[in-house]
Amino acid sequence: MLQNKAAVVTGAAKGIGFAIARTLVEHGARVVIADIDTAAADQAAKALGGESAAIAVGCDVTDPEAVAAAVRACTEAFGSLDVMVNNAGITRDATLRKMTEGDFDAVIAVHLKGAWLGTRAAAEVMREQGSGSIVNISSISGKVGMIGQTNYSSAKAGLVGLTKAAAKELAFRGVRVNAVQPGLIRTEMTAALREDIWNAKVAEVPMGRAGEPEEVANTVLFLASDLSSYTTGCVLEVAGGRFI
Ligand code: NAD
Repeated sequence: MLQNKAAVVTGAAKGIGFAIARTLVEHGARVVIADIDTAAADQAAKALGGESAAIAVGCDVTDPEAVAAAVRACTEAFGSLDVMVNNAGITRDATLRKMTEGDFDAVIAVHLKGAWLGTRAAAEVMREQGSGSIVNISSISGKVGMIGQTNYSSAKAGLVGLTKAAAKELAFRGVRVNAVQPGLIRTEMTAALREDIWNAKVAEVPMGRAGEPEEVANTVLFLASDLSSYTTGCVLEVAGGRFI
């Protein structure tokens, strides 16, 4: 489905990002693993088969130069940039009473500004190519708002606005921009949750279980490929029916 296509996936050293990178590679794409954790990114690229399939680039998505360099690495190594997945993320959960400005700024910077920088850098290339698919990883936390996540819910809701505005700007150049809102997915990020909180979240899911990173990756594959050729500015939930 992605033969001769090249992709950048941010935050792809592990978790959902790694699953996305692996799925894109399985479907023929070559992928730049852009992650702040350079050692883990190197390992991830090796695990995906090395240079013919994936290369690692150390990249802090809050740094405009680093994001531009990741995109450049893709066009230089693979000749194009067909898919950009803005996935890198962190959490700094706390109630409003306890959340510091630093916690707020850090989460907005990585998720919202990072995705804006990624969208801007990818659009530069894709506009000229006349084709491309940008996928922003939001969260259902941005749809419903979650206690302890005023920073994260703000950033993830902001990503929806970014996605729709960019989709309108880029559609006439053949570039599509969509967002995915995962629910509770089993990764290191959610492994940090207390067991009673994890169980309470699972109880909210009509399908009765957490999702796996591969299930998010398959939805990204759909948005990245021509299967979704007439879909732009859209938000797809991958949440087992939670908060519909
Ligand atoms: P994770 O913590 O397992 O992986 C996040 C990756 O992002 C790591 O490899 C980390 O090194 C990288 N990263 C962090 N800050 C970075 C930065 N400044 N620049 C570049 N890379 C950076 O997290 P995950 O669960 O795989 O989450 C991936 C995305 O999916 C995030 O955007 C997250 O908000 C979103 N999401 C996750 C869930 C879930 O349940 N796990 C649900 C909804 C949305």
